Amino acid sequence: MNLAIIGTGYVGLVSGTCFAELGHRVHCVDTDESKISALKKAQIPIYEPGLHELVEKNLHDGRLEFTTESGSAVQDADAVFIAVGTPSSRRGDGYADLSYVYQAAEDISKNLNGYTVIVDKSTVPIGTARNVCRIIRESNPGADFDVVSNPEFLREGAAVNDFLKPDRIIVGAETQRAADVMEAIYKPLLLEQRPFLLTNLETAEMVKYAANAFLATKISFINEIANLCEAVGANVVDVAKGIGLDTRIGKAFLQAGPGYGGSCFPKDTRALLRIAQENGCALRIVEAVVEVNEAQKARMVNKIRNAIGPDTIGKTICFLGLSYKQETDDMRESPALTIIPRLTEMGAKINAHDPAAAKSAKELLPEITIFDNEYEAACGADAVVLLTEWNQYGTLDLRKLKSMMKTPVFVDLRNLYDPKKMKEIGFEYYSVGR
Ligand code: NAD
Repeated sequence: MNLAIIGTGYVGLVSGTCFAELGHRVHCVDTDESKISALKKAQIPIYEPGLHELVEKNLHDGRLEFTTESGSAVQDADAVFIAVGTPSSRRGDGYADLSYVYQAAEDISKNLNGYTVIVDKSTVPIGTARNVCRIIRESNPGADFDVVSNPEFLREGAAVNDFLKPDRIIVGAETQRAADVMEAIYKPLLLEQRPFLLTNLETAEMVKYAANAFLATKISFINEIANLCEAVGANVVDVAKGIGLDTRIGKAFLQAGPGYGGSCFPKDTRALLRIAQENGCALRIVEAVVEVNEAQKARMVNKIRNAIGPDTIGKTICFLGLSYKQETDDMRESPALTIIPRLTEMGAKINAHDPAAAKSAKELLPEITIFDNEYEAACGADAVVLLTEWNQYGTLDLRKLKSMMKTPVFVDLRNLYDPKKMKEIGFEYYSVGR
């Protein structure tokens, strides 16, 4: 089939490339000219393992094209995916900013040519697909189209695998014709028995928010349990194992840490709360999840302060990891963006290392010094704070690290190390919930 993807960011680029890999002919569209000209040369603007190879292969095979012109891409398409950003509104009220989605709908409407399915892949508040439908109908009354909701569940860092081996494909479609197109698009995955759930538009939109809110709930839950573990002398890593082995609970998303971040959980939990409020329906659990997450980041600042002593002025703290999780360069709502400014306000000097996020972190945290090497970053430090669980930080040469530091204080916000071994090496070691 011929597909157009509007928005070539983390989701649009991965989706478009993977659809090409499944055999479709795909035009990926973006308004960002520098991004598109780099992609035409197979230069990937994001860090996402396995993506570069697939982009290169599908560009070479002629199934994947990048363009800033949505017109011809939409005219040729059997289905047009909207994969633009839906950040929190700049007003700071938690609502999702839908201006990019509605602009994309306007752009699409002008170029529809024959029956076309418009697929909303962006995470959007319930009711948005119907609004997209209305915008297109008003702008182009003669157009033959259906609007479908097809939320995306890929995880950054594992996005290619998640897209090609999804736990489920959710499609909100209200005509058989549109559902048939969606089944044809996903046919190679349906042949592998990947679950395909057909719902109405509102349900599909709600599945995405409910899924993210539930996962955020698991994280905030284990973080609160971790805080209690610290108070009573229990070990949260073993508690998480102990409860996670219960198949009704499951072990995923039970790692205590500095709080969730990233481009989805923070904004999506906030947007869900606004949707609930507008509909006069309390979501007290999600409210608590958001509050606990903010408190967890503040708690990490206190943990670091307690480790280095009350006088932070002039102390050098080395951060290992800046992105919100490993295997991504995405800095959106990383706990680093809350924790580091609070420490610099208190007079601390921050050195840092991150294997992928250094470039975007430099723009967001201009006050810190970023090193190419983790040991250089730790040189002369009063404390090391392990913030992101990159594999390379779990296999550090600890004796070398210690020898380079001014004082051997190690704050492990991801519980990557064994407290007993750290003590044996001579570190003053702090972790989360142990
Ligand atoms: P992103 O910011 O990385 O990419 C969005 C892209 O859309 C940008 O490149 C921007 O230039 C482009 N764009 C904006 N308006 C456009 C227009 N009118 N025409 C063409 N291009 C346009 O965003 P993302 O992280 O890929 O997220 C996209 C959506 O997917 C969001 O709703 C997000 O919540 C959802 N989502 C994201 C993830 C994730 O892990 N990042 C996972 C699942 C769902």
